[in-house]
Amino acid sequence: MSIQRNPTRPVTIGSITIGDGNPIAVQSMTATKTQDVDATVAQAEALRERGAGVVRIAVDSAKDAEALAEIRKRTTANLAVDLQENFRLAELVAPHVDKIRYNPGHLYHHGRDMTWQDKVRYLIDLAGTNGCAVRIGVNCGSVDPAKKEKYAADDSITPMLESAFEHCELVDSLGFHQFVVSLKDSDPTKVVEVNRRFAEQRPDVPLHLGVTEAGMPPEGIIKTRIAFEQLIGKGIGDTVRVSLTLPNPRKPEEIDAGREIVDDVYAGRVRSVVRFDDTKLNIISCPSCSRVENEAFVDLAANVKEMTEYAKDFAITIAVMGCRVNGPGETDDADLGLWCGPAKVNLKKGEEALGAFSYDEILPKLKAELDALIAEKTGSAAGV
Ligand code: SF4
Repeated sequence: MSIQRNPTRPVTIGSITIGDGNPIAVQSMTATKTQDVDATVAQAEALRERGAGVVRIAVDSAKDAEALAEIRKRTTANLAVDLQENFRLAELVAPHVDKIRYNPGHLYHHGRDMTWQDKVRYLIDLAGTNGCAVRIGVNCGSVDPAKKEKYAADDSITPMLESAFEHCELVDSLGFHQFVVSLKDSDPTKVVEVNRRFAEQRPDVPLHLGVTEAGMPPEGIIKTRIAFEQLIGKGIGDTVRVSLTLPNPRKPEEIDAGREIVDDVYAGRVRSVVRFDDTKLNIISCPSCSRVENEAFVDLAANVKEMTEYAKDFAITIAVMGCRVNGPGETDDADLGLWCGPAKVNLKKGEEALGAFSYDEILPKLKAELDALIAEKTGSAAGV
């Protein structure tokens, strides 16, 4: 299947170049604790050996940054650092990575005496000095509040686009062109829409595609495939990540899934006739990373999937998130949401907090809320 790729710029990330018609790079992110250098090196190497073009690592503290410097010495993977709240850590990590990802929606947390423009200039200066590429990574659950409040609550796409375009314009004005953009949502149809609309206006900017919190296989792969087939098939997308909730030893399956989808699209083996069925139960869960508050998260997500099987025919979305950084925001749009703390799991119904419960108590609490929701929807008690 010949695909007319968008005329994106070439962006070099360590030993690879994406964009400008180069092969679509498949990437992943380590879910080990960054300060556990041995475990993180082992996972980065496993991902590299499985074909990861880029391996991303979360850094949230100076101690994480120290560990990253050590990890750099022990892997030849192209490394990207994931900065969420603390952009100032960039100066500690830039010398040790090939790419810096920042989230426009989290820049406001630190440096309240600085404008967002100054924070971006600071990041771009560091990237330029250290030969790093940059990703402007916009996520549906952490969109810049200043953008979100300008639009209707049910319009999640326009604020994401406005945030991305604004950051692109500023970075362009700084004469820096080694950057890519990502626009992620947990709903594949929104991922298609937001990336298509971005590429229409900025066909020159390479795109990192992903359905965020896609969940556990096989559903997580199916959701991702639906979005990727429709975008890559139209020449949109220069690097991809399949975000799957998996135990650490199985993390390289993200690379297999990404590789298979890209190869299938190019071979014309597409299944996009499959519509994302939003009339059924939808479990969204994050792929975990170094920020996960409790290692029990991956098992919790699997237990939620198992326990809620009886409700599979109800149009209900349940979100299971690993930490406080993206948990609270990413669960707002779900009917029921769980986000993990070190000892307790926070239960929400939409934006309403229902309390924090121990890891042993949370499943029965969730089931009670799910039964109540089903009763609300059907006017009769469901549950078994
Ligand atoms: S929700 Fe937290 S633990 Fe999960 S991937 Fe996002 S940052 Fe990592």
